[in-house]
Amino acid sequence: MLRITDILDKTQDYLSPKELEMIEKAYIFSAAVHQGQVRLSGEPYLTHPMEVAGILADMKLDAATIISGLLHDTVEDTLTTIEQVREGFGKDVAFLVDGLTKISKITFGSQEERQAENFRKMMLAMSSDIRILLVRLADRIHNMRTLNFQPANRQQYIAKETIELYAPLANRLGINWMKVELEDLSFQYVKPDAYHELARRVVQSKEKRDQYTEEVKGIIHAEMERFELKGEVDGRAKHYYSIYKKMEEQHLNFDEVYDLMAFRVILDSDQEKTCYEALSVVHALWKPVPGRFKDYIAMPKANNYRSLHTTVIGPHGQRVEIQIRTRAMHEWAEEGIAAHWRYKEKRSSQTDDSGQIKKLRELLESQQELQNPREFMSNLKMALFPDEVYVFTPNGDVKSFPKGATPIDYAFSIHTDVGNQCIGAKVNRNIVPIKYQLQNGDMIEIITQTGHHPSKDWLKFAVTSRARSKIKNWIKTEERSKSIDLGKDLLEKEFKRHHLKFTAVARSEEIKKIYDEYGLNSLEDLMVSVGYGKISPKHVVRLFLPEEIARGEEIPAEKPKKKAPPISTPGISLTGIEDVMVHYAKCCNPIPGDEIVGYISRGRGINIHTAQCPHIQEFDSERVVDVQWSIGEKQTYPVGMRVVCKDQKGLVAELSAIISAMDINISHAEIDTRLHDMQAICDFKLDVNDLSQFNQVVSAIKKLKSVISVERIAGT
Ligand code: MN
Repeated sequence: MLRITDILDKTQDYLSPKELEMIEKAYIFSAAVHQGQVRLSGEPYLTHPMEVAGILADMKLDAATIISGLLHDTVEDTLTTIEQVREGFGKDVAFLVDGLTKISKITFGSQEERQAENFRKMMLAMSSDIRILLVRLADRIHNMRTLNFQPANRQQYIAKETIELYAPLANRLGINWMKVELEDLSFQYVKPDAYHELARRVVQSKEKRDQYTEEVKGIIHAEMERFELKGEVDGRAKHYYSIYKKMEEQHLNFDEVYDLMAFRVILDSDQEKTCYEALSVVHALWKPVPGRFKDYIAMPKANNYRSLHTTVIGPHGQRVEIQIRTRAMHEWAEEGIAAHWRYKEKRSSQTDDSGQIKKLRELLESQQELQNPREFMSNLKMALFPDEVYVFTPNGDVKSFPKGATPIDYAFSIHTDVGNQCIGAKVNRNIVPIKYQLQNGDMIEIITQTGHHPSKDWLKFAVTSRARSKIKNWIKTEERSKSIDLGKDLLEKEFKRHHLKFTAVARSEEIKKIYDEYGLNSLEDLMVSVGYGKISPKHVVRLFLPEEIARGEEIPAEKPKKKAPPISTPGISLTGIEDVMVHYAKCCNPIPGDEIVGYISRGRGINIHTAQCPHIQEFDSERVVDVQWSIGEKQTYPVGMRVVCKDQKGLVAELSAIISAMDINISHAEIDTRLHDMQAICDFKLDVNDLSQFNQVVSAIKKLKSVISVERIAGT
């Protein structure tokens, strides 16, 4: 059993006496709270956190990480609280232990493989500090090493989780030794027959292989010396799981797998070009197998693995794989992110990386001015997936959403009906409002009610395009049916005024010609257009009147156009409605930035009022529509402003100077001086881009000494 002195031995050459003291304190704490707990192996529970801390110490990680290794199960499995950890060991350790407690709840278990990537991402997203993940991986290594004490069904469950979740994570962080060990340990339990067969055959040929290894190593070494390339050559059997995977993927049996052996040339030089020199030496010795050369130096793997790989026909016609790399590349290949901070001084300029490791790298690079590598490590907070959140479905699947997503987005991701009928949600079994923002690790259940419908408000909370388009679609259908009713109503009234029956006309052949002429496809479209105010009912009825009467009718100036181009009014977008005529109401002069409402007028499209406009009270709520500003190109809008000030000379000049200085046009000004109190009332009509520009000019004017008040006024 590992003792505390072993851990201190492993760390004393790079940690301070104070840190070593803290590690000892954590050991005593862990021993006390795990007192009496026993592992399935019969050993005291304490052996587990000790072994985990030992693995982390071998990786030369910082004190907080090793302490977290000693304490990683205390909050989960004992009465210890996170506050106690914070009091005893500081907020850094508490943060790590808290993170470890949270991610220990992620269990992949018997999920389908297609879910694995989501689980891995969730794990990364929840490991807001990379050290959390490193402790978790060390924890898993020790649990796998002692898996034989678990009952058979647990063995299967844990081994499968390890191979699907943890080995790929170790790989993603570039920690090869962990990946290899986790894979081979899991392989024994997941495919015991294949494992034992493979192990038997590999061992059987061991003696021959050792001989062969020495031969190849000797040849490469001699040749390197001849070309004055310094370094070492290393040969070993590939790990079982990688051989097995190759047999599976390429449908080979054991005898057909030639390159059971992998050789590594590790060069003392830190120059990339030395690797290519060594490669040409190898290729001059033996014929390369076509298509097997891979240049991971020019194009590193996503986890920043860099090396040259080639397969050659070696002595006795055997295929052997040879990897060529510098020592720095080798350290990364074996220890990945964990080694990175220790070798930052040696690191030469790096070529471009890809994907997630690039983000990590940016974080790493940005910390470079820090002197102390441990300080550097503890500053290594990572946000690998800052734009996504991962949540559980009630049956344990993981779904990913953009950050800021709400239960509405979740509901529509399940099914349109679930979304449409969503009335609320439970997160981790508690009711939450529909605007609740999903958090990593949340378990979501949607509450539905038959007959419930989406509302326009939902667009404020929904962030996924799926949910948004479903909601808009519903609103559009809804508003269309309202417009049909309204349009039909308007047409009936107008026809009645002329003693005609719209319903009868609607059934006639004539009507088709009419909507054709407007460039519409159906009677329904015609009614919608009338309802929206795009087509005047007066104009429609005129087409059915005898010519002489029609001429006498006062008609609006508009003429029916063939395939009228869509009318778009810059500055306004309507929820679920397109190409509608829009007017800005003169009574309140809305400007961008104002809260606004739309009102379907009879025959004049949609009028836009400010939400404060007193006229809104009188509106028929059926005709009120949701509108938003959508500002593309800059344009100006009229707005009224009243300035009340002490009457004095030069005042108007001063005011207009301020306004013009802000590049605002004054389209109208009126000054009225009240004799009784000698105050001047100046009403301006300004052309502004938006509310914030208006507010700027107001506050600039307010700064003048003689100004008493400035306010926005309606309808100049
Ligand atoms: Mn553990």
